[in-house]
Amino acid sequence: MKPRVVVIGAGMGGLAAAVALARDGFAVTVVEKEAAPGGKMRRVQAGEAHLDGGPTVLTMPWVFRGLFEASGVDFDRAVPTVPLSILAAHHWKDGSSLDLFADVDRSEAAIRDFAGAGEAAAFRSFKADAKRLYDLLEGPFILSDRRSVPDMMGALGMAGLAELWRLGRVETLWAALGRRFRDPRLRQLFGRYATYTGSSPFLAPATLMLVAEVEMQGVLAVRGGMHALATAMADLAAGEGARLRYEAAAETILSRDGRCIGVRLAGGEELPADAVVFNGDVGAAAAGLLGGDAARAAATVPVADRSLSALVWCMTARASGTGLVRHNVFFDDDYASEFEDVFDRRRLPRKGTVYVCAQDRLDDASPRDLDRLLLLVNAPPTGDAAPLSDDEVRACRDRLFDLLTTCGLTLEPEAVHLTTPQDFERLFPATGGALYGRASHGWTASISRPPARSRLPGLFCAGGSVHPGAGVPMATLSGLRAASAVRADLGSMLRSRPAAIAGGMSMR
Ligand SMILES: Cc1cc2nc3c(=O)[nH]c(=O)nc-3n(C[C@H](O)[C@H](O)[C@H](O)COP(=O)(O)OP(=O)(O)OC[C@H]3O[C@@H](n4cnc5c(N)ncnc54)[C@H](O)[C@@H]3O)c2cc1C
Repeated sequence: MKPRVVVIGAGMGGLAAAVALARDGFAVTVVEKEAAPGGKMRRVQAGEAHLDGGPTVLTMPWVFRGLFEASGVDFDRAVPTVPLSILAAHHWKDGSSLDLFADVDRSEAAIRDFAGAGEAAAFRSFKADAKRLYDLLEGPFILSDRRSVPDMMGALGMAGLAELWRLGRVETLWAALGRRFRDPRLRQLFGRYATYTGSSPFLAPATLMLVAEVEMQGVLAVRGGMHALATAMADLAAGEGARLRYEAAAETILSRDGRCIGVRLAGGEELPADAVVFNGDVGAAAAGLLGGDAARAAATVPVADRSLSALVWCMTARASGTGLVRHNVFFDDDYASEFEDVFDRRRLPRKGTVYVCAQDRLDDASPRDLDRLLLLVNAPPTGDAAPLSDDEVRACRDRLFDLLTTCGLTLEPEAVHLTTPQDFERLFPATGGALYGRASHGWTASISRPPARSRLPGLFCAGGSVHPGAGVPMATLSGLRAASAVRADLGSMLRSRPAAIAGGMSMR
C-alpha cells in the first residue's frame, strides 16, 4: 500500500504538492470544490469571451521549469510562453508616461528621458540593491523552510545581516524609495510592488524591493492565458498518478489520537489519509471551517492583518487613445490616500491606481477592434463584514474611467464580468476577500507566515497564505515545501525512498 495523501484545493500550492508527492510514490487525491483547477488563477467569461480573471504577470519561470522537468516534461512545450520586452507601461494624470523594459539599459534610458540623469543613476543603484537583496534572501528565505527570526539571523550570518541593514534598514519600502528617488512618480511606480503581496508600500518593509528585482528578471506572457498554466499543472499531477476530483468540497479534516487521519467531504464521503495538505487560506482552517481539530492547528489571521482585496472587471472593450501594451498602470495623484482608504478607512479608494491587462497584446500598442481586458483596483478585504453596495462599486467604476480618460485612454466596454471582495470571500472563505494571506506590514511580517507543518501532526499547509508567501511562483514553492515536509514525515513508508532533493525543488 502506498502512503495516502489528500490535497485540499487545486490552487498552485496544492497542485505543486500533488505533482511532487505523486512523483515520489504517494497515492495522492486532490479534492477541489470548484469545477476547474487554478484557484485564484481562474478563467471567467464576459459575453462570449473567456479571460484570465486572476494573475496575469508570470515571473520566476525557473520554478515551473524545475517542477515540470523533474517529471520529464518540457515546460516550454507544455506551457508556451513569450517573454515581454515591455514589463509595463505607466501613466500619470499629468499626461506623463514611462515604460519599464526587460532590458535594464533601456529602462535606464527611459528614466533619463522621463526624470533626468540623477533619477536614472538612482534607478541603476536601486536595481543593483534590489538584486543584492534578492540574492541575499533567495536561499535563506525563499527556498527554505520558514525560520524563526534568530534562525534567519543565523542563516544570514554577520556579513549578510550587515548587508541587509545597509540595503533595507528597518524602514518602510516608501522610506527606502524616498532615500533613493526624488521624483514622486518613481516612488509610486516602485512602491506599487508592495501590492504584489497585498500590502501598502507605506507599511511594508524595504526588503520588498526584491519584488522589483523579480519583475526586472523578466515577465512572461502565457500563450492561451495564465489559466493554461494551472491546467498544465493539473495534467502534470494526473500524469504522475494523482487523482483529481472537482466539485468535491472538503468539509472536515479528521483526526484521531492527535494525528490527522483523513478528510470528510460535503456529502459525507470519507477519504482516509496518512497526511493532508490544505491549500485553502490558513485563516479558513483557523476559523473552524474544516472542524475543531484543524482550527487548533493553525493561527488565526486577525482581520486587521489581512492583505488587499480587489475589484476586478474582466471585459471586452473598444480601446482608443493611449496605446495599450500587455501590462498598463494608471496612477492617480495622491498615493498615500489610496492605502489610507483601503487599510484605515476600509473603503474603496477615492484615488485608486488602476491596473489594466490587455490579454491579447504583447509589446505592440497598435489599435485593435476589440480588446479582452482585466481592470483591477485595490479594495478593502471586508467581503465578509460590510458588502460593497452597487452604488459604491458604480462610483468606483466611474472614478476609474475618469482616471483613464484623463490619462488619455477611452474604453467602450461591451461585455463585463465583475468580481468583488464578496465574491472573493465566497471563493476563498474566511478571507474577507484578501487575496494574499496576511499583509506584509512590519519588518518581521514576511518571515512570520505560517510554515508548511501545522500544529496537528499529519496536517500540512500550502499556498499564498503560508511561507514563503503569495504570488504564483511563491505559492508553487510553498507546495513544494509542503511536499518536502510530508516526505520527511512519511518517507519511510515509501517502498523506494525519494532522493534528497526530490520534488522538483528547483534551483536556478
Ligand atoms: C485578481 C488577482 C490578480 C493576481 N495577480 C497576480 C499576478 O499577476 N502574479 C502573481 O504571481 N500572482 C498574482 N496573484 C496572486 C496569485 O494568484 C496567488 O497568490 C496564487 O495563485 C495563490 O495560489 P494558492 O496556492 O494560494 O491557491 P489558491 O489560488 O488560493 O487556491 C486555493 C484552492 O483551494 C480550494 N479550496 C479551498 N477550500 C477548499 C475546501 N474546503 N475543499 C476543496 N477545495 C477548497 C479553492 O477552491 C481554490 O481552488 C493575483 C491574484 C488575484 C486574485
